[in-house]
Amino acid sequence: PAPGELLLDVDRLRKQFGGLVAVNDVSFQIRAGQIVGLIGPNGAGKSTTFNLVSGVLSSTSGQVSFRGQPVSGLASRLIARRGMSRTFQHVKMIADMTVLENVALGGYLRGSSGSMRAMLRLDRQEEQRLFKEAETQLRRIGMAEQMHELAGNLALGPQRLMEIARALCTDPALLLLDEPAAGLRHKEKQALGDVLRQLKQEGLSILLVEHDMDFVMGLTDRIVVMEFGTKLIEGTPAEVQASPEVRAAYLGT
Ligand code: ADP
Ligand code: MG
Repeated sequence: PAPGELLLDVDRLRKQFGGLVAVNDVSFQIRAGQIVGLIGPNGAGKSTTFNLVSGVLSSTSGQVSFRGQPVSGLASRLIARRGMSRTFQHVKMIADMTVLENVALGGYLRGSSGSMRAMLRLDRQEEQRLFKEAETQLRRIGMAEQMHELAGNLALGPQRLMEIARALCTDPALLLLDEPAAGLRHKEKQALGDVLRQLKQEGLSILLVEHDMDFVMGLTDRIVVMEFGTKLIEGTPAEVQASPEVRAAYLGT
């Protein structure tokens, strides 16, 4: 996508769970080349919004468009194929397989009951292609040295990077990251931030749900703040930080 192209258009997105309105007519956009943060207190509706955008949940009403095409109601696998790829808050991996194997076979390992069969059906050529792509993406994010380690032996920081490498294998234009910095040590957060900035330099756009304010402030171009299912405010990190409503609702000052 050309820099500035409208990538993601979330239009009056709504999700009700029975009587509870978890996401209340929320709208925001992401343009190519941006890192956008989605923040807000617990229960604000961030994860639900994220799941609606990535096709894990279907909306009650409203529309999500990606690169000008509606994606509402599409299976997440199909959304990924169009160039929107996500990670999950909890690392999904097979601990006694290598990092490379985890990244290469990620799509198959993650699937449900048919996954092992799907894996066995992989022909030799397809397998080679998956491993080559996995290696490329691991090198891209600086994990060449850890490729052949067992995934279970990695610290949490590198495990999160491994997840990002896996998401990159489908060649996305937009990466959705669910709390990528949660639980990381300071050094690991810095390393993650460096990787995300690098990906942005390379033309990727990123939407991240995050609790760590410092991490979000230092990394994002724009921030969407949610509270009680609604969008409270949206703006640059400086605008959001200066907003009295945000200070009251989120920062508690
Ligand atoms: P956040 O990620 O900002 O903490 P969530 O999107 O997880 O918030 O939740 C928003 C609201 O929706 C909360 O009140 C939560 O309890 C409710 N909620 C989330 N998922 C479900 C569900 N599957 N069924 C019923 N209520 C849900
Ligand atoms: Mg959440």
